Amino acid sequence: MRKFRQAKWSEPLIFELSREGKRGFKVPCVEEEIRTAVGKLEDLLPSKILRQRPPGLPQVTESEVVRHYIRLSQMNYGVDVGPQPLGSCTMKYTPKVLERICELEELANIHPLQDESTVQGILQILYQLGKWLCEIVGLKYFTFQPAAGAHGEFTGVLIIKAYHKRKGEERDEILIPDSAHGTNPASAAMAGFKVVRIPTRDDGCIDIEALKSAVSDRTAGLMLTNPNTLGLFEKEIIEIARIIHEAGGLMYYDGANLNGILGIARPGDMGFDIVHLNIHKTFAAPHGGGGPGASAICVTEELKDFLPVPVIEYDAENNRYHLNWNLPNSIGMVRSFYGNIVPLVKAFVYLLMLGSSGLRKTAEISVLNTNYFIAKVKGLRGVTVPYDPQRPRKHEVVISVKKLREETGITAEDVAKALLDHGFYAPTIYFPLIVDEALMIEFTESESKELIDEYANALKEIIETAYRNPEILKEAPINASVGRLDMAYGNLPRIISINYKMYLQRKKQGLLP
Ligand SMILES: *Cc1c(COP(=O)(O)O)cnc(C)c1O
Repeated sequence: MRKFRQAKWSEPLIFELSREGKRGFKVPCVEEEIRTAVGKLEDLLPSKILRQRPPGLPQVTESEVVRHYIRLSQMNYGVDVGPQPLGSCTMKYTPKVLERICELEELANIHPLQDESTVQGILQILYQLGKWLCEIVGLKYFTFQPAAGAHGEFTGVLIIKAYHKRKGEERDEILIPDSAHGTNPASAAMAGFKVVRIPTRDDGCIDIEALKSAVSDRTAGLMLTNPNTLGLFEKEIIEIARIIHEAGGLMYYDGANLNGILGIARPGDMGFDIVHLNIHKTFAAPHGGGGPGASAICVTEELKDFLPVPVIEYDAENNRYHLNWNLPNSIGMVRSFYGNIVPLVKAFVYLLMLGSSGLRKTAEISVLNTNYFIAKVKGLRGVTVPYDPQRPRKHEVVISVKKLREETGITAEDVAKALLDHGFYAPTIYFPLIVDEALMIEFTESESKELIDEYANALKEIIETAYRNPEILKEAPINASVGRLDMAYGNLPRIISINYKMYLQRKKQGLLP
């Protein structure tokens, strides 16, 4: 079997490679004729903007620069190296053709301030993508202005607020189950709502009785992540929608991870009024250092007047696309221009490649992959699948190593770090908060059976080590370029934080300018 290992380099800072007089390339000599015609450059510039000292650039050869950055890139981990089964984050492979199309001159060189008559092509792409996404979620109107998922939620709750205000109703509470993504309560609170927490039942779904007693004439709406963060499809959505609508509230669907239901079930048909989608998760645009995110929000007819401006419209008679700024009830702009175009173009191409049957297959395979993985790890000693382990999961699963911790002292963090030693990316850990010692794992449709087997085998080996030699795992990772990090520093992108730490140390020692 293939063994995964990260390349391990103890790469110095490029400043430490610097030696006086080394050069990466030679600047050609200036011809005498030019020199005399132009005169001294320093005389042409105001003296206050002239440098007093040369810039503190490293002096290195071309091959040193190339090798330095290639080694750094080999210390990095991404979906082009191996699986990144981060639950809740849907890190799927981005087909290279998506990148190539975004590099096309016609796309790369347009500017958001161009007159709309000169950007009909991109407007057509965005309009078509919006229509497809509306079809996928079962709603009618869309915006692409939010820059990412949480920003989409914030935009969505602002729309909920504007809707009630327009009706002259004072509603200041948003209901959110405790299995929701953490950004849901944060977005609601930022928009000025009070967050009412709804507990989860033993079967991992919303406690309907608790919901009924929480609903009142103060309820502005409910935010639901579905499938929820346990990977479970909420059982009683129709009933939940009825309760909320009868109370005068709106239904908000967190569709950041739509992978498990694409082409199979539509939030609009379940009674949702607003949906946000993460283009950078479900629709193959990269994220996590791979470029900006993008979010789509789709809404019902009733809410279309509150969308951020401008909205993209199509005039079929003249076959023209327009940016409509004239929506008197709009919540305004939540971002400049009309969204992060690059990930949107990627999503457009991705959908073109898949077609509707490919889209459905995507969902089927990602769900199969998750449940195959569960079957492989369910019986492992010390591992449990909390909340109704018999029920199939959708795009992701949360396992708990609480028992492992009680029996060996090995925590979810230790297991995650040990996975790095097997050359895998660590899963999401300690989330959702309703599971102790949680590891949240999501294999998308882009991973093969062989790879899932290898990941499950690595997990099995780690658990065997935990029962035999737990102290070894406390040292993990030992095979990665970077050892166990301070968890607070770990919140920064790894390489940057480590380089920054080294930079500070060396600066303190007087080794750096
Ligand atoms: C990722 C995620 C979000 C937030 O999206 P960002 O793009 O990271 O802001 C919201 N809800 C769920 C369920 C998510 O998985």
